[in-house]
Amino acid sequence: MRDSLKNREVAGVLYEMAELLELHAENRFKIIAYSKAARAIESLKEDIEQLCKEGRLQSLPGVGKAISEKVEEYLRTGQIQAHQDLLKKTPAGLAELLKISGLGPKTIFMLHEKLNITNLDELEKAAREHRIRRLPRMGAKSEKNILKSIERYRKRSTRILYSTAEPVVSEVLAYLQKMEGLEHITAAGSYRRGKETVGDIDILATATRPEEVVAAFVRMPMVEEVLSRGPTKASVIVKETIQVDLRIVEHRSYGTVLQYFTGSKEHNVLLRQLALDRGYSLSEYSLKRLSDGQGLFFDREEDVYAHLGLQYIPPEMREDRGEIEAARQGRLPELVSLMDIRGDLHVHSDWSDGRASIIEMARAAQALGYEYLALCDHSPSVGIAGGLAPEKLEEKIEAIAAVNEVLEGLTVLVGTEVDIKADGKLDYPNDLLARCDIVVASVHMGQQQKEREITGRLISAIENEFVDIIGHPTGRIINQREPYEVDMKAVLDAAARTGTAMEINAYPTRLDLNDVYARMAKDMGVKMSINSDAHEPEQLKVMKFGVNVARRGWLEKKDLLNALSLQDLLRALKR
Ligand SMILES: [Zn+2]
Ligand SMILES: [Zn+2]
Repeated sequence: MRDSLKNREVAGVLYEMAELLELHAENRFKIIAYSKAARAIESLKEDIEQLCKEGRLQSLPGVGKAISEKVEEYLRTGQIQAHQDLLKKTPAGLAELLKISGLGPKTIFMLHEKLNITNLDELEKAAREHRIRRLPRMGAKSEKNILKSIERYRKRSTRILYSTAEPVVSEVLAYLQKMEGLEHITAAGSYRRGKETVGDIDILATATRPEEVVAAFVRMPMVEEVLSRGPTKASVIVKETIQVDLRIVEHRSYGTVLQYFTGSKEHNVLLRQLALDRGYSLSEYSLKRLSDGQGLFFDREEDVYAHLGLQYIPPEMREDRGEIEAARQGRLPELVSLMDIRGDLHVHSDWSDGRASIIEMARAAQALGYEYLALCDHSPSVGIAGGLAPEKLEEKIEAIAAVNEVLEGLTVLVGTEVDIKADGKLDYPNDLLARCDIVVASVHMGQQQKEREITGRLISAIENEFVDIIGHPTGRIINQREPYEVDMKAVLDAAARTGTAMEINAYPTRLDLNDVYARMAKDMGVKMSINSDAHEPEQLKVMKFGVNVARRGWLEKKDLLNALSLQDLLRALKR
């Protein structure tokens, strides 16, 4: 049996209408009818569109003339006017309260009536001020529960880091891959596209016995709550707030389903348009030939693209940034992969704020198959990070030479992460920078400065003849700190002019340059380097997160300093 998205979509709208009607204290029977109809459509075993076509909508429980007309309207136009009207007369913040678990429309209506609460912040404030416990059927415990639900909702609505999702995905896949009869399994959605943050995790699979796979999925040790469960799909919560959806689909449609659920929405809209232009209607089930209604099924995603006359578009590129046109013309870049990376040009050791010695970092890099590793400890003005005084850097240069004596197959480069001070000057004199193999220059302090000042600081660092790479060029920390204000176009212009590279910092909370700027840099002829900024051996492995960003920025091997051999790298540096 197939799991109809249309059914779920229609049911979703009707559920929402029931809640909105209740929020406005409308007729009770009307409300019940809407939720009953929604439930019936949700658990319907056939396609709602088919039912509608055959005029059988009113055979469903709860569906009378009024609701069947609205379902028809939805299937015809993609929306229901009455639903839009309800939304229009509901304050946006009030509708959001429906998403707080444990808060029904009835309670929200009362909170609105008695305390004039119209949004989440007001609700939180009222609970903290103990104004809710005085209402009928409420108490101290309800206040506590409301606060807990709000906290949970806020966490849930913050997208999680890719690096947080990754071990969850690996664990789910490893767990289900052991199941007998499981054929394909993969994560789709923004995770598959390698986005820096991920919403819910979508897992798609094909299996000969779907029910058994679903049963195993909801019983995984990591599952904390089962949100819903049907014969071919289920949703669960893991790690407090992460939602994982599993969907078992028909084998013959796996290619189109995977394409559909990988997104992005914008990419899919364009792809469907292209399909129409070529005489097909593309859905998650098949590619239907419009001339004779013949459905073509694809179990491989590659074949979907090929059939539409396109090169296979890697998931990371599916963002409506020109990829379909490029694929049509056979001009897609050959994206860089982790295997192309030959070294790491920005790591720390216990000479500054790292937690391992130079030799420990070097051995870990060797284990990853790297040819080179640049030890870039901090300069003195980054005091909290134990920046090296000039004479300490001299000592470190000797220590690295000694390490290179004993190492075989990997070269440790003398590097520094020199601070770009608030006035734009570098934290070491040029004669010291000249003694380093590689210089990364970064902004750490004074990030509140105005755009003009920050841009000026970066450009003056770029213009220094010894600076090879600008480290974490926007200073953002995902979900914690906004990027500083900077005119990136001007910075990249200067980088292109001087042959200075920009970093893609692979640290999972940084990931800057981001995908959009990386693409811009590439188009302007600026070289980049994906660096881990590791402070301990294990962190060298974050390189893969930076590679995701690079792929999303369309980067190829030739765009990256650290995809060069050691010899070519040394030639490419400014020395
Ligand atoms: Zn730094
Ligand atoms: Zn660093």
